[in-house]
Parts: sequence; C-alpha cells; structure tokens
Amino acid sequence: MSLGSFASAGTDSKRRAAPLFRPLADMKTFSPDSSIASDVIPSANFGERGKGRLPDMILLHYTGMPDVEGAIARLCTAGTDVSAHYIVLEDGRIVQCVPEAKRAWHAGVASWAGEEDINSCSIGVEIANRGHDWGYPEYPLRQIAAVIALCRGIMLRRGVPSHRVLAHSDVAPSRKKDPGEKFPWHSLANSGVGHWVQPAPIGRADGLKSGTISDAVRDLQQALARYGYGIPITGKYDSTTTEVVTAFQRHFRPARVDGVADHSTLVTLQSLLASLPAEVKAVAAR
Ligand SMILES: [Zn+2]
Repeated sequence: MSLGSFASAGTDSKRRAAPLFRPLADMKTFSPDSSIASDVIPSANFGERGKGRLPDMILLHYTGMPDVEGAIARLCTAGTDVSAHYIVLEDGRIVQCVPEAKRAWHAGVASWAGEEDINSCSIGVEIANRGHDWGYPEYPLRQIAAVIALCRGIMLRRGVPSHRVLAHSDVAPSRKKDPGEKFPWHSLANSGVGHWVQPAPIGRADGLKSGTISDAVRDLQQALARYGYGIPITGKYDSTTTEVVTAFQRHFRPARVDGVADHSTLVTLQSLLASLPAEVKAVAAR
C-alpha cells in the first residue's frame, strides 16, 4: 500500500482527512512487514543493520511533537537523520516507514545489556503523543491496543523475548523520557508484551539517594546493570545513578518517579531480576 490509501480508505469521514504527509515522489515504497500496518510512508532515513545483526528488541518511543503530521514529516524526510520502523497514531492506525530488515535511526547514543548499536538490534516503534514538553496526554486505549497487536506480531515473527521490549528511556536514561510514566506497560504485559511484575507498594520515604556512598549503592548499581541498564559500578549515588533509577521507575514503578531508590524500587527491581528467564539470568550474573 502507499500513501494514496489514506485518501481512499473508505467512506469513514475521519479517514478521508487530508493525507498525513506526502513523501517525495522518488521514494520507493515497499510491502508492510506487519499485516496490521494500514499504510506505508517510506522514510529516506535508514541503513543496513550492523554485521547482519537480526533484530531481537522492540524499542518504544513517543513522538514528542505537537502534531502527528509534523512527526511523520520529521521521521520520513531526508536530512533529519531520524526515522522509525512504525508510527502508531492516536486512532490506532499503524504506518510503516522503514522495512524491518533495515536499520532505522531512532535510538541515538544508547546502551543495553552491554550492546551500544541499539539501532542494529531493534525495531523502533514511535507512538504519537505530544510528550512531556507539550502537555503529555494519556495514551488512548485504541492506540495502546494497536501497539499491543503490532508488538505481538513482531515478537512472534522475530523471536523477540518479553524482557527486550523496552522504553527509549531505558537505553538512553540521561537523554530520554519516552514513552514515559503514563505509558501502560502493565496493560501490555497482560497481553504478553514486555516484562513486568506488580510494583512493590510505596511505603517509607527513606531510601538511597543522590550523594550516598555505600555498598548498598554498589549493590543497586550491580542489580540495574544485571537487568541491562548501562550504569558504571562506582558505589556512589551520582547523577548517572539518579537518571537510571528515574528511567527504571518510569517503566517499572511509575506511581512515583523521583530518582530515589526507595524500598519499593529496590524490591521491584529484585522481583524483575528473579523472574527473568534462567538463561538470561545466567548471562547477566557473569
Ligand atoms: Zn524516543
């Protein structure tokens, strides 16, 4: 399918709205990898995956722009140096911009489980949402249903394990907040997408925080690194530690995102580590 199908999507008046974005006439289109992608808007921004690396991670983003038309234009126009494989619109429509076999440019400087070329190992999914800088609305249910269906398909086709469905903020905690603490990871997990445990209840306000130097901080850093986060083991609760704990909370303990490793944060992290598949635990423990 091509962009043209936006204009011919049927009699539904909402879908007869103006096309979201007109790609350059010389952009080659392609068949969507996902059967539920309604349209293809080819992006100029992609390359080859490094050393034949096959994708085994899904990285979720929000677009973080005031309107989706602008976001699509940015992700598809040559020269912006950014792209994603998919964009999920607020109404649940799914647009594919880069073939899954290719390396889209969505992660930037990032790291997970010791790997730094995250673009080569991942499929990037942009979710239309204005983000923290523009009021950060809730994600509509039908948009989340579309994200779940898209991810389930990718996981099946590509063999992506649940613990490798991640947030952009997980792999780039010092730079990124997306898709943020309003993203309903628990709903995804209920449908078999992503790794999740019920967060431990928030209790006392005390906990490890900025400036602390102790073995407990070292243990925390080691646990975060075992899970996959890129964090140096220093024993000091430095700014990097605060950023990584904040990213962890946005994903796994979203009721309070403050960068303080309280009891609830520590227990939730230990529960996640304990519930990783055995073979992953063995690698992480090395
Ligand atoms: Zn992002």
